[in-house]
Amino acid sequence: MELISIIVPCYNEQEVLPLYYEEIKKIMRSMTENETGLSFELLFINDGSKDKTIDILRDMASSDSRVRYISFSRNFGKEAGMFAGLQNAKGDYIVVMDADLQHPPEFIPKMYDYVKNQGYDCATTRRVSRKGESKIRSWFARKFYKLMNKISQTEIVDGAQDFRFMTRQMVDAILDMKEYNRFSKGIFSWVGFSTKYIEYENVERAAGTTTWSFKNLFMYSLEGIFAFSTAPLAIASFLGVLSCLIAFIIIMFVVVKTIFFGEAVQGFPTTVCAIFFVGGLQLFCTGILGQYLSKTYLETKGRPVYIIKETENSVRKQTPEDE
Ligand code: UDP
Ligand code: MG
Repeated sequence: MELISIIVPCYNEQEVLPLYYEEIKKIMRSMTENETGLSFELLFINDGSKDKTIDILRDMASSDSRVRYISFSRNFGKEAGMFAGLQNAKGDYIVVMDADLQHPPEFIPKMYDYVKNQGYDCATTRRVSRKGESKIRSWFARKFYKLMNKISQTEIVDGAQDFRFMTRQMVDAILDMKEYNRFSKGIFSWVGFSTKYIEYENVERAAGTTTWSFKNLFMYSLEGIFAFSTAPLAIASFLGVLSCLIAFIIIMFVVVKTIFFGEAVQGFPTTVCAIFFVGGLQLFCTGILGQYLSKTYLETKGRPVYIIKETENSVRKQTPEDE
C-alpha cells in the first residue's frame, strides 16, 4: 500500500475550494483505478482565512475520510502553510500544490510516473510563459531570478513553482532544515536530489483573487536574497572601498588646488557633497548589515513557524482509527 499526501495551503479560498475538490477527486479516482495499492490523503492548511474556508474544510473532512486539515491561529503565510503540511503529511509520496487550480491536478499522474518509475526524487512544473501576469511583475520576476542566480550558490530556476511531487526521503531532508525564515524555492533546490521539470503554459486562477500584492512579492524576493546569499554583505564592503577611493581623489584635488591657488572659505560645495556621499554609503551598508542581523535575531528567538488552532480531529467522531 502506497500513500500519496497532497498538501494544499489555503488562504481565503472559499470560491475555489469546491472546484478544486471536484477536480482532485477525479484525479484520485482515476489514479486508484489504474494502479492498485494506491491511496490518498488530502491535507489542507487553513492559513488564518477570514472567509468561510474553514467551514468548507470541516464539511469536507466530516464526509470524506481522506480529507484532513490544519487550521492556523492566524495568517502565517504560505511558507508556514507548506511547512506545516510537510511536517504533518503521512504519505510515502508528498505533493504540494495551490488551491486555485493554477497547478493543474492532471499533472499528478505524470509526476507520479516520473518519480515512481523513472528514478527521479522530485517532479515539478516550470511555467514557460507568464501569460496573464502584468508586464512589470514578470519583468521584476525575471530580473530577480537573474540576480539571484548570480549571487547565490543555490540554483533557483526561473518559472519553477511550488507544485511538487516528492519522495518521503526528500521531504525528510527538507524538514531537517529548521530555519525560521523559509524561502522554499531555495530550500527545495538546496537539498539537491534529482528533479524533473515539466514545462507548461501559465494557467489563470479558477476563481477568487491572488493574495500576493506586488509589495508582498517584492518583500518575498528580498527574503530569498537574504536567506540564500551573502553577496549583499560583500556589496557593502565594495561600496565602502569605492567611497574611500572617491574621497581620496577629492582630497588630492583639494590639496593640489589649495597649494597652487590658495583657499579662503571656498570649497563649501565639495565638503557638502563629500559628507552626503559618505553618509549615504554608511547608511546603506548599515542597512544591509541590519537585514542580516534581523534575520539572525528571528532565528535565535526560535519561535514556532506556525501555531495550530484546530485540526480535522475536531469534526471526526472519536473513532480510534490509525493507519
Ligand atoms: N496562500 C496561503 N497563505 C497566504 C497567501 C497564500 O496559504 O498568506 C495560498 C493560497 O491560498 C494559494 C497559494 O498560497 O493556494 C498561492 O496563492 P495565490 O494564488 O494567491 O498566489 P499566486 O498564484 O498569485 O502566486
Ligand atoms: Mg495562484
